[in-house]
This record gives sequence, C-alpha cells and structure tokens, in this order.
Amino acid sequence: MKRPATRIATIPPYLFARIEEKITNAREKGVDVISLGIGDPDLPTPDYIIEAAKSQLHIGENHRYPSARGMLAYRQAVADFYQKRFGVELDPQAEVCALIGSKEGIANINYCYVDPGDYNLVPSPAYPVYDIATMLAGGQPYYLPLTPQNNFLPDLAAIPAQVLAKAKILWLNYPNNPTGAICNLAFFEEAVAFAKKHDLLICHDGAYSEMTYDGYVAPSFMQVPGAKDTAIEFSSCSKHFNMTGWRVGFAVGCPEAIATLARYKSNVDSGIFQALQYAGIAGLLDPSPAVEAMKQIYAGRRDILVDGFNAMGWQLKAPKATFYLWAPVPAGFTSASFAEFILDEAGVVITPGNGYGGEGEGFFRAALTVGESRMAEAMDRIQRVLGKVSF
Ligand SMILES: *Cc1c(COP(=O)(O)O)cnc(C)c1O
Repeated sequence: MKRPATRIATIPPYLFARIEEKITNAREKGVDVISLGIGDPDLPTPDYIIEAAKSQLHIGENHRYPSARGMLAYRQAVADFYQKRFGVELDPQAEVCALIGSKEGIANINYCYVDPGDYNLVPSPAYPVYDIATMLAGGQPYYLPLTPQNNFLPDLAAIPAQVLAKAKILWLNYPNNPTGAICNLAFFEEAVAFAKKHDLLICHDGAYSEMTYDGYVAPSFMQVPGAKDTAIEFSSCSKHFNMTGWRVGFAVGCPEAIATLARYKSNVDSGIFQALQYAGIAGLLDPSPAVEAMKQIYAGRRDILVDGFNAMGWQLKAPKATFYLWAPVPAGFTSASFAEFILDEAGVVITPGNGYGGEGEGFFRAALTVGESRMAEAMDRIQRVLGKVSF
C-alpha cells in the first residue's frame, strides 16, 4: 500500500474522533457514560423545518445536481435573515454562497487563499478546523492567544511585522467556541481597520450568533461599515436550528472572496441536496419560535453546570452565549489528566482544553448537550469524586 501524502500523514485524527473512541471503550466496559464532550445539540430539528424538506422529496427537479453555490431562493433566504436579524443588506447573487455545513467552507477557504509559506492568524484555543485546514493548504498558523486576561480577544498589535507581511487570513469566532466568550462591535471595527491596513482577509465564524442568553444579542461581523471590503462570515443552520446532521451552511460578505470560494467549490463538490436547502429556507425565514424555546432549555442546563462547579470551588460566570463552559482545571491536573480522571472516576466526558490549541492547556470544556436531570447527575458524580478543589 502506498503511503498517504505528507500533508495528511502529519495531521492527527480530528479531536472528536479520538474522544468518540474513548467513549466507545468506556461504554463497552459497561460504564454509563454522560457525554459533555462534542458540541452537538441533542434536541431535535423543529417539525416545521422537517416538513419543509419532506414536501420537496418527490419533486423530480430536486433529484438532479444542485448548484455548488446554492439555489437563488436559498441565498435569498440567507439575505432576508441577515436583513431581519442584523439590519445588514446582502446581494444574494454576489455576496452569499451555500455551504455543505460551514465546516466545509471554513476548510476550503484556506485552499483559495493560502500558498505554501503563507501564514494564517489563528486564535488559540479555537475550533480545530482553522489551523488544521491552514496546514493542509500548505500554510502555517500563527497563533493568537485567547486568555482570561485579554477577555479572549486577540491582541492584534502584538503580531510581528514579518508575520503580517506573509499573512493571508485572520480567523475570528464570536460568540466563541470553546471559551464561550463574546465581543462587541467595537472589536470587529478594530479588526476591519487592521485587516485593511495589512491587506488581510478576515474570516469570521458566526456559528453561535443565535445561541445567546440573558438578553444578550450577538452582532454580525457584517454590521461593521466596510466589512464587505475585507471580510466574509461563515454560519449555518446547524446550531441555529439544531440541524447539525443536515449539512446546511453559508458564507456571506466580500464578493471577491465569495466568488473565489464558489469557484473552488464548483470544482470539488456539487452543492447541497435541494430538499435540504428548502429546510434551511424554512428555518431562516421563520426562526423565532424554534430558537427561543431552544435557548430556554440551554440556559437551564448552563445554570446547573455553572452552579455545580462553583459549589466545588470554581468561580465561573455563566457564559452569555454558545453551549460551552470553559474552565480551569484544579491544581495538580493537566487538561488531559483531568479529562481522563473525570471519565475514569465519574463516567463523565469533558474535553481537554489543549485539544483546541496550546493556549487551551490548563482548561477543560463542558458542553450543554444532555438534559437537566442527566446534567445534574453528571455534576453529582463529579462532586463525589472531586469534593472541594483549589487552583
Ligand atoms: C459547530 C461549529 C461550526 C460548524 O458547523 P457546521 O455544522 O459545519 O455548520 C463552525 N464553527 C464552530 C466554532 C462550531 O462550533
């Protein structure tokens, strides 16, 4: 058998592929595992969205190859969503591209802009696709630390000039996975000015814009005047409407970057099954009932998790967005040894913070992916094995 290419041979399996393996092993040993691991909503897709897809299944037109860029009706629905939700005007022809889930576009945009030897500016910790896809495309990530001290906002002024000279993409993601951090429009404005000065493409990942609590409303990067000159924003129906399995996403913004991404995609994929695009349209045009009910459920789980850890000695604030809690590991543990201890002793899966980048060492992430009673059970078990902790 021929050896795989260096580009793939040097890449570790996706973080969650490794975690899934550990869960399977524990379950095979008979452990009743509670997984707060992978960030995949356990709640079902709302019925009206499922019905919208169902009604399209028998229509012959939908059985043929879709357009890689997405049906115009789908791109129009994305534009309508941006208008209604953010007050942002988008031209559905030039400024919107459908994606087979946003992960697809987040990976592929690197192939569109990165030549060997180029840098991408990548936060650490972060969603693993930004740096892995940078490397697959032959580029090198330059990591921007996100820490409690900087409120999980990268210090753009600290990036060395020689890195900036060879930098192509600045990756940003707010509300943030894995830290749960949020940011205001002022930071996005600063980023746009910085990108224009240094000729960067900003790729903002807005996957969690709708998963917000306590009255917080997340901005779109496209609300910044001039953002479309230098930035695109990725998002999808996955987290907005509990549709992770459907693979219905989109990118919006800078028309040149959207056209480049669409050209790349037309050569490597053939778009989203149209019946699924109709499901996306249903969600995007009438999101409110589904989103509101979902947020209430996540907020309830979040409070159980935060209160549970704080009762053991943590001093965590409830995150205002995402379905993640990002917290330091207690004294005497590393990220990996803490995650392992909690799985072995309590049968609860949390993810080690270093899986999201070097700056994540010393932290763990817990996701709000089980119901309130299982969440309470998970916290009871952790409390039993840990007692009071110090840092
Ligand atoms: C879940 C997630 C995505 C992507 O999800 P898709 O299902 O591919 O649209 C993108 N970015 C972040 C930070 C995520 O957590």
